[in-house]
Amino acid sequence: MIAFAFGAPLEYGEQVKLRDCPDCGEATDQELERRSDADASNGDIVVAVCKECGTETGEWSEGSIPGQVP
Ligand SMILES: [Zn+2]
Repeated sequence: MIAFAFGAPLEYGEQVKLRDCPDCGEATDQELERRSDADASNGDIVVAVCKECGTETGEWSEGSIPGQVP
């Protein structure tokens, strides 16, 4: 049911990340979205969203975790 698109060209240095999605029950292709969080003193937050079902699988603040992605 799930069509993997291996070999798709990467654009603009975009990273394709496989993260475990609780809704899909497996590691799926994820899209990183940058969002503005008015309550966050750190500024923007980055949210990982499953491309298969749209579920958020993680979010973190830029700058708060230098060089580390959960
Ligand atoms: Zn999913």
